[in-house]
Amino acid sequence: MDPLISETRIAVADATGLAARMVNHLAEHDITFEQQDGLMVAKLPFGTSTLAVEAEMLKIRVEAPDKGKLEMLRSVVASHVIEFAGEETPTIVWEGHESNGHTLASFREVQLKASRDLTPHMRRLTFVGDDIARFVSDDDLHVRMYFPPEGLDKPEWPWPAPDGRIMWPEPDRRPVTRYYTIRRIDAASREIDVDFVLHDHAGPGSDFALKAKAGAICGMAGPLGRGIRPARWFMLAGDETALPAIARILESLPATASGEVFLEVADQREELPLTAPSGMSIRWLHRGDAPPGSTQLLAEGVHTVRWPEHPDIFAWVAAEAQAVRGLRKHLRDMRGLTREQHLAVAYWSLRTS
Ligand SMILES: Cc1cc2nc3c(=O)[nH]c(=O)nc-3n(C[C@H](O)[C@H](O)[C@H](O)COP(=O)(O)OP(=O)(O)OC[C@H]3O[C@@H](n4cnc5c(N)ncnc54)[C@H](O)[C@@H]3O)c2cc1C
Repeated sequence: MDPLISETRIAVADATGLAARMVNHLAEHDITFEQQDGLMVAKLPFGTSTLAVEAEMLKIRVEAPDKGKLEMLRSVVASHVIEFAGEETPTIVWEGHESNGHTLASFREVQLKASRDLTPHMRRLTFVGDDIARFVSDDDLHVRMYFPPEGLDKPEWPWPAPDGRIMWPEPDRRPVTRYYTIRRIDAASREIDVDFVLHDHAGPGSDFALKAKAGAICGMAGPLGRGIRPARWFMLAGDETALPAIARILESLPATASGEVFLEVADQREELPLTAPSGMSIRWLHRGDAPPGSTQLLAEGVHTVRWPEHPDIFAWVAAEAQAVRGLRKHLRDMRGLTREQHLAVAYWSLRTS
C-alpha cells in the first residue's frame, strides 16, 4: 500500500540552525537522520520524516502507512519545531491528509464489557468498541490505553491541533495513559481482551482493572510497538507484564519454529496455558515471595541458552527496566546480536517511593 504523505514549509529566521538543533536532539533519542540526495531522512517507529532547508524555509515531509501514524509523526515534528524555535512561534500548516480536528485517527473509545480473573494476579478485561479493525495487527501488538482520572466517569480525549500537535484537556478532565497488549481482538464481534497484572502499589492501569465495572469507559490508541522478526529460532523472555505479548507471539509462530522461552512469575498459580510450536521449549521461573523486578531469574535463564550456530535467530525481551538493561547488554555485547536480531523493551520501572 502506498504511504500517506503530508508536507509543511515553515518560515523561521534561522532554518538551518533550527534543523541542526532538532537533528542533534533526536539523535539523543536514537532517531538518526541520514543524508540522502541532499535531504536529511530519518526512520521513526511510525514512518519516515524528511528535512530540508530551502531559501531559509524549513521543508518537512512525513510519510506513514496510515492516518493515525501520520498524525503521530506530524505531532512529533510540530512539537520539536516549536520547542527548538526558541523565542519565535512559527506557523505550521500541513498539506495532505488533514486531521478532522476532533479526535485522533488512532484513537477509539471503548467500554468495559466483562472481566474475569485468569490467575490470582492477572485479570482479563473484555472491551467493546466500534470500528476497532485498525488494532488488528500481527506486528503492532500494543495500545496506549487512556483511563479516566479519579472521580470522573468519562474524561475528555486528546485531539489534533491544526499545526499537528496533540492537544490535551485540562488536568482535571485529562485521561491517564499506560501501555498494554491486545491479547485477543475480534473486529467482527467488536471485542478486545487485555490482560492486566494486578500488582501492589496499583497505579491507574491496575487500579482500573481492579475496580472498573461493566459499562466503564476508557480509550485506546494504536496499534503500537514491535513484535518479532521472522526467523528460524527464537529466544523470548519476559515477566508477567510480557506474558500477554509472549502468548500472542507464540500463537503466531510457524509450526516449524524452535527456540527457548523464559517466563518469570510469582509461582505456579500465575502460569497460564500457552499454545506454541512443539519446538519451543517453555520454562516458567518462580520468584516466590521476592518482589517483582527484584530477581536475576530472567538473566540466569537467558545465560543458559544454547544458541544455534546459524544467524537466523531473533531474541525478544520485555520486563522491568533494570532487568531489560542487563539482558540487552548481554544480547548485544556477549552474544553479538545485531539490531535486526533482537528487541529488548522496558515494560515498567521499579519505583519504590
Ligand atoms: C508495550 C507495553 C506493553 C505492555 N503490556 C502489558 C500488558 O499487557 N499487561 C500488563 O499488565 N502490563 C503491561 N505493560 C506494563 C504496564 O504498562 C506497566 O506495568 C504500568 O506501569 C502499569 O501501570 P499502573 O498504572 O498499574 O502502575 P504505575 O502507575 O505505572 O506504577 C505504580 C507503581 O507500581 C509499580 N509497578 C508498575 N508495574 C508493575 C508491575 N507489573 N509489577 C509490580 N510493580 C509494578 C511501579 O514501580 C510504581 O511503583 C506493558 C508495557 C509496555 C511498554
